[in-house]
Amino acid sequence: MPNLPTDVVIIGAGASGLMCAMQAGRRGRRIVVVDHAKTPGRKILMSGGGRCNFTNREIDAAHYLSHNPHFCKSALSRYTQWDFIELVNQHRIAYVERDHGQLFCADSARQILDMLLSECAQAGVSLSLDTRVKKIEASMDHPFAVHTNRGAFTCHSLVAATGGLSIPGAGASPLGYEIARQFAIPVHPPRAGLVPLTLQATDKTILSGLSGIAVEAVVSNPRQCFRENMLFTHRGLSGPAVLQLSSYWQPGEPITIDLLPDMDLAAVLKAHQQRNPQRKTKSVLAAFLPKRLVAALIPPAIAERPLQHLSHQQFRQIATQLQQWTLKPGGTEGYRTAEVTVGGVDCDAISSKTMQARRVPGLFFTGEVLDVTGWLGGYNLQWAWSSGWCAGQVV
Ligand SMILES: Cc1cc2nc3c(=O)[nH]c(=O)nc-3n(C[C@H](O)[C@H](O)[C@H](O)COP(=O)(O)OP(=O)(O)OC[C@H]3O[C@@H](n4cnc5c(N)ncnc54)[C@H](O)[C@@H]3O)c2cc1C
Repeated sequence: MPNLPTDVVIIGAGASGLMCAMQAGRRGRRIVVVDHAKTPGRKILMSGGGRCNFTNREIDAAHYLSHNPHFCKSALSRYTQWDFIELVNQHRIAYVERDHGQLFCADSARQILDMLLSECAQAGVSLSLDTRVKKIEASMDHPFAVHTNRGAFTCHSLVAATGGLSIPGAGASPLGYEIARQFAIPVHPPRAGLVPLTLQATDKTILSGLSGIAVEAVVSNPRQCFRENMLFTHRGLSGPAVLQLSSYWQPGEPITIDLLPDMDLAAVLKAHQQRNPQRKTKSVLAAFLPKRLVAALIPPAIAERPLQHLSHQQFRQIATQLQQWTLKPGGTEGYRTAEVTVGGVDCDAISSKTMQARRVPGLFFTGEVLDVTGWLGGYNLQWAWSSGWCAGQVV
């Protein structure tokens, strides 16, 4: 088996691995990026619905989950969203800003991947695609030997940039967690994040006819709340508000949904009762919410009744049903559709400045494999760029 000496082996030709490779390559390091996929950067291509929400103007540690909430601060401040935007500008990639400071390619995510690949090529980085890692050894003369189906690579620095477990069909694997465990680095149990929630059987029966309806809502649990669109699907609930909350959701926990944020619904119904007492409750509610949604949540005995026959107590009940609607999701759709993995390599074991394992010199972890999970909106890719950049300065 050939023995191929390099300075740095990066496992994972995704967002953080390519960023790390181009930075280290610019420093004159000999880099091989190994990936078991036949093509690099598949999640970059899938990102943002093919337009890649590559960063956000409002990057802040408060938009990340981690058992160590301070860990991400150093990297995010050393390689910022403005640094990445400058790179995008240098490559003349047109972009657009959407809600909440989210920046997307105006044309295609392919441009971001091509930019990274051309930077890597200029920096002399080698890509070894379709390459399966069989075993990793720490040896005396070189700290690491990475045994693959294409031979063994020896290196002084090894970077696990293997991403999370979401979308197995796009190359996701647990290798990064296995490498951590091999070197006695703790891993917080991974779970699916930014993922649609599924419904329990009874709720599914009641809500199955609502598939396709989208409404602005505040979706919350005791720890977080998000006000954005919510989408009913044939399996359950999705849309940005639900995806965001899913990262904070624990199995068995109820969630609360306010379908009419900012409205004093009981007072609105009372006012309508005075102006138009014969109007049916459902016609008033239909001014604010889709008819099918009202029919699913408000019993016909109330919905069909003229307002004049309803008491203030019943107005309050309607308001509670629509504004503090509590339901217990059955679960999540899991890694099949999740955008990210929550949990991962314990940041307490990693230097926040370099991404190097504190007790294993030469071993680095970047991107989603770490226990750092961003909100929806470009935060996860910015974490990949920032953490990859930091490792790229020192490997
Ligand atoms: C559908 C979808 C849309 C998304 N949209 C956005 C968005 O618009 N904005 C945003 O900020 N984030 C988005 N994300 C999240 C974002 O893509 C990831 O957080 C980011 O790509 C993580 O970068 P990474 O380098 O850690 O891992 P990845 O980019 O996932 O790269 C990991 C690489 O490691 C390789 N690999 C894995 N296991 C092995 C192995 N055993 N051997 C060799 N190679 C291996 C994989 O093939 C892959 O190339 C989206 C995710 C998904 C799934």
